[in-house]
Amino acid sequence: MNGDRIKDAALEDFLFGVDRIALTPVLDELRELQNGRCFYCAGPLKEPQVDHFIPWARVPLNAIENLVVADKSCNNGKKDHLVAAPHVRSWMARLASHASDLEAIAHKASWDQGSAQVLGVARATYLLLPSSARLWLSAKPSAQEFVAADPCDLKLALAGWGPAELHSKTTHARTLRTAHH
Ligand SMILES: [Zn+2]
Repeated sequence: MNGDRIKDAALEDFLFGVDRIALTPVLDELRELQNGRCFYCAGPLKEPQVDHFIPWARVPLNAIENLVVADKSCNNGKKDHLVAAPHVRSWMARLASHASDLEAIAHKASWDQGSAQVLGVARATYLLLPSSARLWLSAKPSAQEFVAADPCDLKLALAGWGPAELHSKTTHARTLRTAHH
């Protein structure tokens, strides 16, 4: 990261607030990637909103890999909660099978990306959870549905990518960024 880029980032934070950077530039493409369906309930997206998969309130991470599109009711229900293992599994599957699509979206929108960083944060966050933690599962008309964190299930859900593969992805991302600037 060079000096100008740091200055740009600081200016952006000043103008928009660290937590207020508009997520709309990537909304349409992410929605397309999800075939117009909510990431959490798979229902057709009526009022699509970009959601930070690992909640912004926990880790302020805007990288494309941490962004999913959800309908308003799921997004409102999930709020700042971590999500249950089935969602973690679909998120990991998206990370693995759509790595190049996510990279392309980030590149086009000059957006932050970093699968290795995001995955590292997800693992650190989920694997250190006590089993007493409650994870958000779904939005029901009556109430939000939560389940207990199952450490074994979460560990399995977050397994899969070896360090070698992550390393090459990170290097590739860096190459792209350098080429872009
Ligand atoms: Zn939904």
